[in-house]
Amino acid sequence: MTANTPDDARLLAACLLGPEGPELSCEECFDVLDAYVERELAAADPDAALPAMRAHLAGCSACREDHDSLLALLRNGFGA
Ligand SMILES: [Zn+2]
Repeated sequence: MTANTPDDARLLAACLLGPEGPELSCEECFDVLDAYVERELAAADPDAALPAMRAHLAGCSACREDHDSLLALLRNGFGA
């Protein structure tokens, strides 16, 4: 994966800034992704605990893919 093309730079900048403003960066999103997915699996209302996550995931396909694969991984009994 090359990171030096203008397209990649634009995507990265758009992701870091976020479509809705700087509420949650991808780094912050990644930091709380585990906790968010664990709450989802426990039906513990993750959006109440981490309200910025849903907006970020809705606008950031990179983090949404990370979220989806982590959710699938944990749902399939990873570590069980
Ligand atoms: Zn993101």
